[in-house]
Amino acid sequence: MKLYFASGNAHKHEEIIRIMDTCTIIKPLVSCDFDETADTFIGNAEIKARGLYNMIGEPVLADDSGLVIPALGGEPGIYSARYGTEEAGRPLTQDEKNQLILSKMKGITDRRCYFVAALVVILDEERILSVQERFEGVIAHEPAGAGGFGYDPIVYLPNLQRSVAELTESEKDRFSHRGLAGAAMQRILQNYNI
Ligand code: IMP
Repeated sequence: MKLYFASGNAHKHEEIIRIMDTCTIIKPLVSCDFDETADTFIGNAEIKARGLYNMIGEPVLADDSGLVIPALGGEPGIYSARYGTEEAGRPLTQDEKNQLILSKMKGITDRRCYFVAALVVILDEERILSVQERFEGVIAHEPAGAGGFGYDPIVYLPNLQRSVAELTESEKDRFSHRGLAGAAMQRILQNYNI
């Protein structure tokens, strides 16, 4: 099955290509910079999927994801990509976003956190599929690892005794929010003959 991926994020794209390996995931030629105005991950994934579907009229896949830290009231959550922009008056680099979280977490003992990935597929006007998954860890005291992307270096996995950025690609695909959601979506899509 061919799916146009409604994201300009090259890291997400690479992961989705690996995870949903029975599908052909295509980067669309049109821009996928849609206003994410919903207050949930699924809502924002729907906005991106709908935006691209309306432009191209072909089956599309969208991903909305982020990191949730309960001790920070759920921050950065659905604002993960633009975290800290308002306070700084400019978009922060990913290193700056990671440092901002580490500084806000100073002295906080409840360091639980989780990644969320919402995936939405629009096959046609009537057939819309959605899946959401999560991946739990704790906020580390300092960044570690060079793999993955985004907040991976500051999310530590106590069971594996490594940060998410220290996992191999196949380990991240097996355990992560996007890996679980992508595998579930792929299983659902196997029922459709498109
Ligand atoms: P979105 O494009 O609005 O879905 O932004 C998602 C943001 O959440 C990304 O820019 C990353 O900062 C963060 N994020 C999502 N998935 C991951 C992941 O797998 N690892 C680390 N950070 C992630």
